[in-house]
Amino acid sequence: MQVIGTAGHVDHGKSTLITRLTGINPDRLKQERDREMSIELGFAWLQLPNGEEIGIVDVPGHRDFIENMLAGIGGIDAALFVVAASEGVMPQTIEHLAILDLLQIPAGVVALTKIDLVPDLEWFDLVKTELRETLADTVLAEAPIIPVSARTNEGIDDLIQAIQDTLTKRPHRPDIGRPRLPIDRTFTLPGFGTIVTGTLSNGQLSVGDPITILPQGINGRIRGLQTHKQSEEIAQPGSRTAVNISGVSVDQINRGNVLVHPDTYHPTKMLDVHCKLLPDAGSPLKHNTEVKFFLGSAEIMGRVRLLGVEELVPGESAFIQVMLQEPVAALRGDRFIIRRPSPPATIGGGQIVDPNPSRRHKRFNQQRIGELEQLLGGTPDEILLQAAQSAFTISVANLIEVSGFEHQTAKESIHQLLGQGKLIALKGNQLLIAADIFSALESRIVADLAAYHEKHPLYIGMPREQLKSQTNLEINVFDAVIKYMIEKDIIQSAGPILKLTRHRISYTPNQQAKIDSLLGKFDEQPYTPPSVKMSEERVGEDVLNSLIQTGQLVKLREDVLFKPEVYHEMKEAVIEHIRSHGSITLAELRDHFNTSRKYAVALLEHLDAIGITVRSDDKRKLRKSS
Ligand code: GDP
Repeated sequence: MQVIGTAGHVDHGKSTLITRLTGINPDRLKQERDREMSIELGFAWLQLPNGEEIGIVDVPGHRDFIENMLAGIGGIDAALFVVAASEGVMPQTIEHLAILDLLQIPAGVVALTKIDLVPDLEWFDLVKTELRETLADTVLAEAPIIPVSARTNEGIDDLIQAIQDTLTKRPHRPDIGRPRLPIDRTFTLPGFGTIVTGTLSNGQLSVGDPITILPQGINGRIRGLQTHKQSEEIAQPGSRTAVNISGVSVDQINRGNVLVHPDTYHPTKMLDVHCKLLPDAGSPLKHNTEVKFFLGSAEIMGRVRLLGVEELVPGESAFIQVMLQEPVAALRGDRFIIRRPSPPATIGGGQIVDPNPSRRHKRFNQQRIGELEQLLGGTPDEILLQAAQSAFTISVANLIEVSGFEHQTAKESIHQLLGQGKLIALKGNQLLIAADIFSALESRIVADLAAYHEKHPLYIGMPREQLKSQTNLEINVFDAVIKYMIEKDIIQSAGPILKLTRHRISYTPNQQAKIDSLLGKFDEQPYTPPSVKMSEERVGEDVLNSLIQTGQLVKLREDVLFKPEVYHEMKEAVIEHIRSHGSITLAELRDHFNTSRKYAVALLEHLDAIGITVRSDDKRKLRKSS
């Protein structure tokens, strides 16, 4: 289902024309709304000759109502632009046209109304020529101009046909699986409760769906859906939709809020945009100026941070970082309008380039401006890569969200970027990282490990925790990067220790001689070997630690070391003894190896701790599971 919206100077005949086209008087609907009687407020609908039903949003043309018009006009498929032949182009004709142009309303039909009042053909030709000139270089440059009279009915059939022709040429609304309903009206109906209306975009809504109202983050559920007074189970993107919500009271919702599925949009107060200042904006737009920002049905005060220019001259465009007072839920490519608060006037508009910039940009940051240019004009691949780069790491779902592309397009691009090695998938495809960011990260980790090895040449490697806190990465990113680097054999892990694969411990001849002598002592008295303290005195603390780290000695407690083969021999002996005798005591172990109480206690407590034995009174038995 498609939606058209009216625009044009006040009193040029918009409401009368809609009544003529649809049999529905939008003014009457407005009165009904005030009396809370009707669900489809201010909206009429029309069946085209081809059977399609379309929605019509009638937006008032009075100057005070331009902001009303902005709330309704977003998301329409085509404009029905009304100009009275009796009066021709008027100030609001120009302002509305500028708005349609800034919003890049994709198509339109011009109704040249009140032709019954035109005195002669000459006047008519004059008005039409002037109108064509006004429309030139705007979105309506190619729009058909249909002369009509709502009074005599002349031209009405031609107008309906022109609307149908224009709409059939329009591609259907993309369904990116992330429905968004910018709310333009809220009200209650007895027996129903809270109802909100808007033009649905980006996906379907179904009865029963959980929903969130943004930016407040209020949760509720869809109780019912209506399009054009018909109850529906599913509302399609592009249709005028009324949603009956349970769990949310009407005074919690305002016009300008957005209804979405939970966790699908992330509202932000900062937006990077590309903005054109209208040629007749009056004066240049200065840095930090306060403006009224219109996006979807929302109207929010904000300040403009001009990027790359000292000021924005009328007729020119620039990148701007908009700092809003309230958060909005935006997508890349969304169109916006800015107005001067007083005296009120539309001064410009454009499109969202980055809906979630990670930081406040320096004004003349050329790198960022380059990135924004890429986001503005790039191919899907370039845009996705850029979005991934500025996010550092990002999930596939989030990248698709930020890009604003249709699911399929985005997925194909991501696939291609992965294939080209420009994106790297971590955590079994859950997390994406741009290759250049990844390689910077990788070099940093390699450098950190190399520095550690250099400082502690006798250690097998660096405690994982220490590296993690040094890199200051989020735990899941750190883990994913390390896993990837281990798979690539750039680094190796031994328990809680990480090392560069290429790192080898090498002892000086002097150290090696001391090690040999110490290990000789261990061989002389395998079951009552030298203590930790004594070992340290012989080889030094660093060398002893490296012997432990590299597994040349096994440390059971603070003061007990064994050679690994001795440790294994004793462990097997304990297990064997329990198997044949049912249990082992401290004394039995001590006597078996002719060792002392200290070593026997250390071994048994260690075996308890690693879950091989379990103590009951003075006996050890095997733990059931071992
Ligand atoms: P809107 O403000 O653009 O919605 O304009 P309206 O639909 O309220 O029309 C303004 C006035 O123009 C009303 O008095 C209408 O009766 C009159 N009007 C509208 N269309 C025509 C038309 O085709 N011919 C004539 N003669 N009058 C018209």
